[in-house]
Amino acid sequence: MSAHCPHDCNPTAATSARYRRVLWAALWINALMFGIEIVASASAQSVSLLADSIDFFADAGNYAISLTVLGMASVWRSRAAVFKALTMLGLGLLVLGRAAWAAHAGSAPEPAMMGAVGTLALLANLGVAALLYAYREGDANMRSVWLCTRNDAIGNGAVLLAALGVLGTDSRWPDLAIAALMAALAVSAAVSILAQARRELATPAPHHHQETQA
Ligand SMILES: [Zn+2]
Repeated sequence: MSAHCPHDCNPTAATSARYRRVLWAALWINALMFGIEIVASASAQSVSLLADSIDFFADAGNYAISLTVLGMASVWRSRAAVFKALTMLGLGLLVLGRAAWAAHAGSAPEPAMMGAVGTLALLANLGVAALLYAYREGDANMRSVWLCTRNDAIGNGAVLLAALGVLGTDSRWPDLAIAALMAALAVSAAVSILAQARRELATPAPHHHQETQA
């Protein structure tokens, strides 16, 4: 179905009212953490926190797609994926740009705030995983919840590692190195989502003529 790239958490379509409530909760937690990490990134002068926020955006986008367009024609699902991937691409390039700028003119970020927000992000992802697992439905099986949570936790762990590195070296370089790595992964995930959506949009739907294009 969907690109199996490092930061892609795809819940199944919401069919029951109970599962829809769980997906809404997951959507709001991810959207809130996206905002918190952007604000914390500016306040702590940490580029890796900004890089970690991309995953919260992508996951919020996946829950929004599951709640709104998943039942619609596949062309809308593909267009929603294109919108999500273009935003991820923009955020990834923004992070790379900020990292390059901070490499020339930045100071060491605040490791305490990085550690606190990285821990909060990890707890948010574990909380969402517990919710999804407890109220799973259809093919939202244990394995997909596990894979998604593991990938999210690796990102949060990378921020905590960057905080430790900043603390240990009193320099910005661990933050910038982790940020660049995470941003590069986000850019590559966005490119593969775009390629997949392009293929889906180029494939004519059943009973349509060959010229069907986006
Ligand atoms: Zn994720």
